[in-house]
Amino acid sequence: MPTADGAALRRSLLSWFDQVKRPLPWRATRDPYAIWLSEVMSQQTRVETVIPYYEKFLSYYPTVRHLAEAPVEEVLGHWSGLGYYRRARMLHRTAHEVVARHDAEFPPDRDALEALPGIGPYTAGAVASIAFDAQASVVDGNVVRVFARLFDDSTDARTPRGMSHFRARADALVVGDRPGDWNQALMELGATVCVPREPRCMLCPVASHCAGRERGTAAELPRLSKKAKPVPAAFDALVIAREAEGDVWLAERKPEGLFGGLLEPPLFDVAPSLAEASHAAGLRVDAPLGVVAHTLSHRKLAVSVHRASLPSLAAPVFVLPEAYVALHRVPWPLPPGTRVSTLARKILALALET
Ligand code: SF4
Repeated sequence: MPTADGAALRRSLLSWFDQVKRPLPWRATRDPYAIWLSEVMSQQTRVETVIPYYEKFLSYYPTVRHLAEAPVEEVLGHWSGLGYYRRARMLHRTAHEVVARHDAEFPPDRDALEALPGIGPYTAGAVASIAFDAQASVVDGNVVRVFARLFDDSTDARTPRGMSHFRARADALVVGDRPGDWNQALMELGATVCVPREPRCMLCPVASHCAGRERGTAAELPRLSKKAKPVPAAFDALVIAREAEGDVWLAERKPEGLFGGLLEPPLFDVAPSLAEASHAAGLRVDAPLGVVAHTLSHRKLAVSVHRASLPSLAAPVFVLPEAYVALHRVPWPLPPGTRVSTLARKILALALET
């Protein structure tokens, strides 16, 4: 039986990584700020999508101090389109804390990194190992999949106990030279070779160590309990624009919660309904122009898009749903860096470009 332990496994994986690693921009630096930025952006987001955002952020905010001193609305604007906007707010908050607590220098060890708000075990392990050569492990979905197969391990990774179990495996193997490269090699293997459903064992540098391959269980691993399906939710969106081209009224979300701090055409569900709010504001609302579908991690949204035209520049007197704090007039087309989500862009495109 293969043994997925120790030195031979490490040698095989690291030498493969040296030969095939993708030339990602954050692999050319040891700057903990840049590595932290790339790790936060890469969570639940594809590498190809992240690269232009990473480069844009580093050009606007070359240091953590620049990021901390920027207005959060501006940071959200530059994040616009990358999704999971809570990450952007947290990024800004973490930057503040690094400046306040550590004089704008990221601390080199995992515990001090994890003590910062917005930095969890994964990000702390990645920054500590890649930027500072600390023997700190990382466990993400790719790493779990690789370990489950290598060790033929059917522990359910979607439970807290299961995650601790895989963290312990990762901790045991990160000990040795080049911990940052070791972590990245594991993630690279999971992203490119030991992929979900059909692992490419023929191309795998650690196939001779893999118990899952030998026993024929690899394709069924890792074992993950079922995720709850996204719950359907229906909304009406109101795009309020001037009759002449040029401006649109967008509502600002409260800072916390879904799309916190972003601007969007207000969404209505039950109270107040779109009909109640627009009647009270004296707005004539057109029949729906169409429905925008948008899936978030927990919700599947169907948004009926309506448009109301305003004859003048005056702000509509409007009772906004509870999720919002204010209404803002914004030029249309939106200037670059406007803090809107992809959902808001889809709604605006349907109302104003068709
Ligand atoms: Fe994954 Fe196959 Fe490699 Fe095992 S041999 S680690 S299952 S790709």
